[in-house]
This record gives sequence, structure tokens and C-alpha cells, in this order.
Amino acid sequence: MTFIRSRRDLCTAAAAFGLFPAFGSASAADTLAMKLVLLGTAGGPRPRKTRSAPAQAILIGDRTYVVDCGDGVARQMVLADIPLDSLRGVFITHQHSDHTADYGNLLLLAWTAGLRTRVDCRGPRPLEKMTKLFFQMNAADIHARISDERRPAIAPLVHVHEMRAGGVVMSDENVKVTAALVDHPPVVPAFGFRFDARDRSIVISGDTAPSDAVVKLARGADVLVHSVMYPPALDRLAARVVNAPGLKKSILAHQTSAEDAGRIAEAAGVRTLVLSHLVPGDDPEISDEMWVQAAKLRFSGQVILGRDLLEV
Ligand SMILES: [Zn+2]
Repeated sequence: MTFIRSRRDLCTAAAAFGLFPAFGSASAADTLAMKLVLLGTAGGPRPRKTRSAPAQAILIGDRTYVVDCGDGVARQMVLADIPLDSLRGVFITHQHSDHTADYGNLLLLAWTAGLRTRVDCRGPRPLEKMTKLFFQMNAADIHARISDERRPAIAPLVHVHEMRAGGVVMSDENVKVTAALVDHPPVVPAFGFRFDARDRSIVISGDTAPSDAVVKLARGADVLVHSVMYPPALDRLAARVVNAPGLKKSILAHQTSAEDAGRIAEAAGVRTLVLSHLVPGDDPEISDEMWVQAAKLRFSGQVILGRDLLEV
């Protein structure tokens, strides 16, 4: 007897009865289930021992889409057993270095790991210029590997689409990706992304102050990954960063508290809220329970505290 415990099981069972003719079989529906892996869960550009910089992997079949490319993203993919050459798309939420520091390196390292297929990269300007300059900066290595190791040229594999507005930014037979403008001053534009697959919907808020746009984007989604801060700890965080007297004020103006993330998740009617992009991401005085309880004050669904390499 088969017990249906989740929508994924339901999807598999439905496919077995031919309800998904496009996929044709139970195994096809199962392999096309959408997986989310948190690659890095600490907000801010300062490298930390316990959490890597912001990045998420969305996996559907043999295709991987990476949302944000914080420092160490390629290494985190290897630790999560995600083949680098499965990379098919990169989505950058906004131009802050904790989200972009390893953008070029991810492309280069996926290529050295065997990438031979097209990768579409989407995000705010100057993504096109960044890509071009990155390839120029690494021209000596790239040329050597093409001539010496007989690799295909990398530049023709990478297609950049600069985003200025929200809406549907990608759609194929397995997934539709919708972007929304969120509120992360002074960085404009800043986006959140929603991935709708056959089995479920996953939303990544990006960095944002509390935003109605996130409520709208996440309406009825299964999973909302929201960036969060813990305001009582910001003085301790600012005290450690001597050259940024405006840091606390800046964080308060453009991030969302865990409690407000819970309020947004409740308003959107999502099933599961995942707390990520933790600010601060390495304060031993904030226990896991404190993060979760703050979010649960205003949210009746499931709350998961994000940690690196967690599959949701
Ligand atoms: Zn940011």
C-alpha cells in the first residue's frame, strides 16, 4: 500500500494514473519534483565560520538554478552534491556584494567542471558589464584552457538578461519564474523570485524591508524563504564593524525582522516559512529557538530556521 504524505507523493501517484500526460510516468513526475537547497544562510559580506553567504539552489530534474551568488557558492554546491555542470540559470536579486561576490566565479568554475550547455543569467544592471569584465579579467586562464584542454569557449554559453521590472522572467515546460520589485533602499532595483513547478511553489524574497510586493508574490506558495534580521542584536553587530557607523541604521531601513517575516508569511498564506539571510548570522547569544519563536509570533504555519546545505 502507498501512503500519500506530501504533495510530492501525490504528484507521483497522480502521474502513475496518467494525470500528468506531459511527463508520462510516475518516475518522470518524481524526477521533475522541485527541490530547494539553501547553500548559504548568513546575510552580509563578512565571511563567517558557521554560515556561508547568501545563495540558494533550485533543482528540477537535471537542471540547477542558482539564486544569488554569495562568496563560496560553487564550493557550497559541491558540498551539497549538486553537479556544477548542471547549472542552467543564475538569478541575482540585487547588486549587493554578499549576493554577487562569486557570480563570475560560479560561471568559471562550472565551466572548468565540465559545463557545455547554455546558462541564462538574470538580474539588475550592470550584470552584462560584470559578466563581460569578468571574462576579460580571466582571459589568460580561459584562453589557456580552451587551447590546452580543448574546452568549448565559455562566453557563448552565457546569456545575460538584465532586469528592470517585475513579471514573468522565465518559463519552460517544467517551471515558471516570476520576479517582483521589493524594497531594499538604496539598492534599486531589488527583486524577489517565485518558482512555480508542477509539484509546488517556492518564493525567495531577496533582501527587503517589509514589503506588500512579497505578500503578493508569495500568495498561496508552499515555501517562502525570507531574509531576516534580529533587531535586538544589531548593536553588537555594529560594534564589531568599526568602519561602518551607519550600519545599524542601514540594516533597520532595508531588512525585515523575523517577526515581520512571520506577519508577511501569514498574510500571504504560505505553508512554510524558511528564515534565511540571517542578520546577524553568527551571534551566539541568539539561539535557534529565539529566531523561530520571533517568526512564530505572527505566523501559524511551519517555521524552519535555515542552515547551510539544508534541503527544504
Ligand atoms: Zn542587500
